[in-house]
Amino acid sequence: MERCPVCRASFKGMPVCRRCKSDLTDLITLEKQAKYRMMQAVQQLQAGNLSKARQLCSSSESLQRTDFGAALLGFLDVLVLEEKRSLEDMLWEYGKDI
Ligand SMILES: [Zn+2]
Repeated sequence: MERCPVCRASFKGMPVCRRCKSDLTDLITLEKQAKYRMMQAVQQLQAGNLSKARQLCSSSESLQRTDFGAALLGFLDVLVLEEKRSLEDMLWEYGKDI
């Protein structure tokens, strides 16, 4: 969050907006959860768990949309699709020999 969603004042990390005094605690909590899930998504990606990574990334994006999250989600969609396709290819190859 770079600006207060109510008055657009720049956000300085305080739980109450310095200009309009809106309570931003819930938004800060959501933002933290989103960042945490995105971090977990990257860890799952590094571990090679693509579908788990995609699930966490999508969950993070539903809390807070970011350019990074959108890009990662698009990237994971391609990887998950390719993994599924290569699995189908492998099963098809295997099926031929039976
Ligand atoms: Zn404000």
